[in-house]
Amino acid sequence: ILKKPFLTKVKVAPGNIYKRGAEMGSKMMGCDEFPQIARTETARAIYLIDVDTCELVYMNKSAKDMLQLAYEDDSYCGKKCYTVLQGLSSKCSFCRNNLLTTERMFVEEIYQPLVQRYLQVKSILFNYMGRRLRLEILYNFKEEELEKQKKYLDQKLEQIRWVDNLTGLYNREKYSSLLKDIETKKIRQIGIVDMDINGLRNINATKGYQSGDRILIRIAALIKSVFGVNSFRVGSDEFVSLALNMDKVDFEAKVTALKAKFSAETDFRVSVGSLWSDNCRDIYKKVSQANAVMEATKSFGYKNLTADYNHKAESAHRLLAEIAEGRFKVHLQPKINLQTGLIEGAEALVRKIDEQGVIISPDNFIPDYEENGLINYIDIFVLKTVCRMLKDWRERGGRVFKVSVNVSRVTLIAEDTIKNGVAICKKYGIDPCLIDVEITESFGLLEKELLVDLIKRMHEAGFSISMDDFGTSFSNLELLSQVHFDTVKFDKSLTDSIVDNPKTQILFKAAVSMCREFGDTLTLAEGIENEEQLKVLQKLGCQLGQGYYFARPLPEDEFWERYIKK
Ligand code: C2E
Ligand code: MG
Ligand code: MG
Repeated sequence: ILKKPFLTKVKVAPGNIYKRGAEMGSKMMGCDEFPQIARTETARAIYLIDVDTCELVYMNKSAKDMLQLAYEDDSYCGKKCYTVLQGLSSKCSFCRNNLLTTERMFVEEIYQPLVQRYLQVKSILFNYMGRRLRLEILYNFKEEELEKQKKYLDQKLEQIRWVDNLTGLYNREKYSSLLKDIETKKIRQIGIVDMDINGLRNINATKGYQSGDRILIRIAALIKSVFGVNSFRVGSDEFVSLALNMDKVDFEAKVTALKAKFSAETDFRVSVGSLWSDNCRDIYKKVSQANAVMEATKSFGYKNLTADYNHKAESAHRLLAEIAEGRFKVHLQPKINLQTGLIEGAEALVRKIDEQGVIISPDNFIPDYEENGLINYIDIFVLKTVCRMLKDWRERGGRVFKVSVNVSRVTLIAEDTIKNGVAICKKYGIDPCLIDVEITESFGLLEKELLVDLIKRMHEAGFSISMDDFGTSFSNLELLSQVHFDTVKFDKSLTDSIVDNPKTQILFKAAVSMCREFGDTLTLAEGIENEEQLKVLQKLGCQLGQGYYFARPLPEDEFWERYIKK
């Protein structure tokens, strides 16, 4: 009987509220008399109506359930369909009985006051024992409607799960899930932008949360306008954008564009750290490096301080005050040519003077400042002091040679370091080629591309670069093959064992010849404390040395007397 439905979509307006009708039907049908179809289709909600008398002939349990009819038995059988189903006392205005055929299903959506919603009704006509019966099947919804609803719900769920409510960007969970399978996604190039609003907490506290929210929404819009959908709000004031398969030039142009947009805003400042790589290996390392760059940018630059009232700014103010009070001093240790015994340069080493006037060695305070991201203030102070010293020496007619400064990772990756370094040199009239920058092994942790790029830019600015503490980590070997260093400084631990340990000698010898073969990379041994060490190092061909055997790090005036004064 059930042929392909003849889809006439008719929406029927709500009828009157159901009220129980009083009319009784002429004759109730016994169970055995039900047409076959009605008895077999038990799972479906079915009822039968006599189209000529409008009597409800039969209704199965599913239909009763669906219509939430309170009748226990079949007592409504024989009542008018419009009374039972629509609560009317006369025929429904929308009655389609005259359109029914025995050929095709008639499909309509009828409002059911009993359950106060539309149900889909499929009807077909058939003749049975001289009566024309309408078989109706009730459906909650069309299947495609259900499908649509499911899709909509899925979308909503996805939104709740993946999307940040306030900004409409993807949230941290989406970000994590993308990172998790990024390696399987065959992505060749990746650009990561890490962003953090400066002092959002302060904005919330002083201007109210609504202002804070407005700023977050504005920032999200700016980020999305440049980096599109792969932008995430990963923390209350932190955002990340990922640029997938974008080449370096395009990526950097976008980062620059975004920064320009940020700096055009007056209500907030955003610290930005970015990193680009031609592969997605060690994605978590890359992500944390981009974050470290952002952190460094955030802590960098005195200019940021006024806009930044958080705890870090307080510590920074304290540190700057201590620097201004002269609590930090720069000592100098000579670098000696091991063949001639003459001074070739010096290393600047910072000291802190405590309230009692006791000198504190850098190992006791540098790690703290590295951790809280303030080390760049010290490094910049040392560079300024060194430039000032070189200027003095020149003006007082002393010798002038290269001086090394130690630069921490945080300082190096801060955005403006090279620019600032050049500006400081210029201010004191010092050629950057008189400044050597010592970077330590922990730079092996930095992304190779980033380091190669930084060192290239420092070379272009005129600085020379030393690798400090070589031999404390094996990853340095790889770094040596990637980056050109002007000097490699062998760690004191190697010098310590150079006399007694033949293996150290072999290692040293190989490293010296390796540096020679690199071209013009000089070798320097740190921590030479006695003549035996010096002798072995000379024999092994090491060119430069530093250590208590020659001189301890000296205060400025002592250093002037011993090494600078002609
Ligand atoms: P470093 O750059 O490897 O400096 C060499 C360290 O070895 C210095 O320690 C120096 O005093 C010490 N030294 C030199 N010759 C001898 C020797 O013959 N025997 C012994 N036992 N030690 C010797 P210092 O001055 O305590 O500095 C420790 C570290 O602190 C430095 O290691 C450097 O990594 C860091 N540092 C010093 N000044 C600065 C700075 O201005 N900025 C940054 N970021 N780090 C700095
Ligand atoms: Mg050093
Ligand atoms: Mg060292």
